Amino acid sequence: MQSKSINQYLNCSFECSCGRKHQSLFAHFIFEPNAIQKLPELLEQLGYKRPYLISDTHTHEIAGRQAEEALRKADIRFASHILKSPENGDLAADEHALGSIAMANDKEADIIVSIGTGTINDLGRYFSYITGRPFLLIATAPSMDGLVSGVAPLIFNNMKITFPAQEPLALICDPDIMSAAPLKMLAAGAADILGKYNCLLDWKLSSIVNDEYYCDTIADIMRTAVDQTMESTKGLASHDSKAVSILTQALVLSGIAMDFSGNSRPASGAEHHQSHYWEMQFLFDGIPAVLHGTKVGIGTVLMLELYNMLAEMEKPDFAKTRKEISSRPSMEEWEKEIRRCYRDGAEGIIALEKKAGKNDAEGLLKRLSVMEEKWDEISALAKTAPKSSEIYHVLEEMGAAKVPADVGISRGYVYDSIRYGKELRDRYTILQLMWDIGKLDEAADKLVEKYCKES
Ligand SMILES: [Zn+2]
Ligand SMILES: [Zn+2]
Repeated sequence: MQSKSINQYLNCSFECSCGRKHQSLFAHFIFEPNAIQKLPELLEQLGYKRPYLISDTHTHEIAGRQAEEALRKADIRFASHILKSPENGDLAADEHALGSIAMANDKEADIIVSIGTGTINDLGRYFSYITGRPFLLIATAPSMDGLVSGVAPLIFNNMKITFPAQEPLALICDPDIMSAAPLKMLAAGAADILGKYNCLLDWKLSSIVNDEYYCDTIADIMRTAVDQTMESTKGLASHDSKAVSILTQALVLSGIAMDFSGNSRPASGAEHHQSHYWEMQFLFDGIPAVLHGTKVGIGTVLMLELYNMLAEMEKPDFAKTRKEISSRPSMEEWEKEIRRCYRDGAEGIIALEKKAGKNDAEGLLKRLSVMEEKWDEISALAKTAPKSSEIYHVLEEMGAAKVPADVGISRGYVYDSIRYGKELRDRYTILQLMWDIGKLDEAADKLVEKYCKES
């Protein structure tokens, strides 16, 4: 994908064959060598006079200092707050970091500028939202798909919560800085994109089973970007600038695709739910976080294996499945399991189920009838899934984590994330389908057996 093709989606709106109008207000993507030097000019063009820069010790070295010098040269007043990166691990996007940003706040600043990709991006986007100021991002690594995003996942009381946030009105990326990012970060970004193979299947699956809104145009835009990323993963291993450029644009495009659909369907499915589940367990256990994309890559290997199983599956005996509904665990038993798995977060999960009724018998029976009627279509969809082994090998070639044990995720956590990860969101995915047809526990056994060798 050349930069020209992404430019066509900037600040764009169009009437789509799906019957909806798609729109993204994200308008300014500066992706060129020395891009940071363009910051003063861009601020002037947008009509802002006084930025508040937020960075951490690492990102300040990589890009923050350069941004400050450019502003000074242009005689633009600014405030700059540098959060201290911990010696071990990464800065957490939590109330502590947010408090520090708030205490150093420049009240006169008319725009928030984050310099970073993960934590600093999430914090700046949220701080900008709560203080009612626009947001600009200077990215330092193509490591995750939240470059252009209207939400911020933050840690509050040791829980990861997704808050509404300010989408950036401009994104500045210097390809030389992006290419120089550690391979671990490039691989995490690529893995986050490879996860789209799964989430696009989940989205289509829900349109078949629940008649949920689905758009072929958006899915095709995303799939093209994923295919191109898949082809360029070898180049990432050598920090090849063309490969990094393709990846960066795919990450930006996934944000634009979410603007188009009005939700995160084009970018997040069961593979992300696996990642979120493991992340929560690490938080509860006080274990340092693993890069988001790295976990998504592992989740993608597991979830695609479920699609591969589905592709091989005979049409279930739906009459039998219906009859066996009464012998499934009761809500009380389910709640007990949720309290065990989700610990301090259980109340939120139980409240979501009360609202969404994902596991209600009435909804289940309705879905089973649709599935019985449309089984061939579901099976045909599953046959279009990439082989799980293919993604596994691509991750391996990049030197990325492929299985849970590679990043210290235990067998027990994987078993639970497959059975209960679906409770995190009201979103139909391959996990809910497996539960619907009564095969989720069996699938969890098989996946754990295959991908979690350690005891
Ligand atoms: Zn559409
Ligand atoms: Zn992601």
